[in-house]
Amino acid sequence: ARAQDLHAKLTLFSMQDHADLSDRLALMRDLRGALAQDQMFLCYQPKLRARTNHVDGVEALLRWRHSERGVIPPDQFIPLAEETGQIRALTEWVLEQALRDQAHLRDAGHEISFSINISGRLLAEQSFADWALATVRKAHGRIAFEVTETAVIDDPDGALRNLRAFADAGIWIAIDDYGSGLSSLAYLKALPANELKIDKMFISGLTSSHRDPLLVRSTIELAHALEMEVTAEGVETPAALALLRVMGCDIVQGFLIARALPINELETFLTRQHHRSDPHSLPTFKRP
Ligand code: C2E
Ligand code: MG
Ligand code: MG
Ligand code: MG
Repeated sequence: ARAQDLHAKLTLFSMQDHADLSDRLALMRDLRGALAQDQMFLCYQPKLRARTNHVDGVEALLRWRHSERGVIPPDQFIPLAEETGQIRALTEWVLEQALRDQAHLRDAGHEISFSINISGRLLAEQSFADWALATVRKAHGRIAFEVTETAVIDDPDGALRNLRAFADAGIWIAIDDYGSGLSSLAYLKALPANELKIDKMFISGLTSSHRDPLLVRSTIELAHALEMEVTAEGVETPAALALLRVMGCDIVQGFLIARALPINELETFLTRQHHRSDPHSLPTFKRP
């Protein structure tokens, strides 16, 4: 009976594994047609300068409107795209679309920078880097690239060479999700970065845990000593925002300020913020 029980469990597991695998394969298959079928779109999450409450820039975040599954978040398809190599086409689409949206906002009087997430594999690819540089230049884009430290591990020489070329061309470099991975001081020493984004796992416990505020404060000091700006991601409460201000955090981003918005809602957000009577009050649009 025991053996039978075990056998039943094993069969159950493998059936689940099989379901997961075929689900992944189905998503991979659908992903191949997603760009051609116009199923990708961008949302933009505002980044607020903490001292002035002005929108400094936005981060482009990719969404996939799947024909049967609805909107799929990037955590569920970016890893697949990285495995299949489609990340290159996706990222090129993201950059081109973001530059179009930036030009549109510029025409409407909103001059802000746009941050784009660049996957590790791509960062070291020479032909991608050449293309990205030329594309940003041609559009006179005000662009930041967000990269994770792990992005540099695969091919450190290639990644560093491209990061330097980006930085020389005036592209702002941000280290994303800082503290969540294998944060090594060696990378901080070597990367030509302008901005450090503290991972939201440290921001959510900012006013409830003992250690998080200490880690955040010393990270802000470290980044400032290296002449980097500091962004806190995942700011969800007024208490966290207040503490980050006291700690001297430069830029804040999170649901408290705004979620990632479609371009038309972003434009409304920017226009309202522009006309706010008290520029030092927080924008109240789309707060949960
Ligand atoms: P990320 O670059 O670290 O982006 C921040 C994520 O945190 C976003 O999730 C954002 O919606 C979410 N977030 C923002 N504020 C809050 C908050 O206050 N609380 C909480 N709990 N979450 C918040 P999203 O849009 O699902 O993106 C997830 C990840 O997918 C991104 O993390 C990024 O690594 C990746 N990603 C998104 N778009 C792209 C893209 O175009 N290319 C690449 N390579 N990766 C992308
Ligand atoms: Mg990011
Ligand atoms: Mg991040
Ligand atoms: Mg992240």
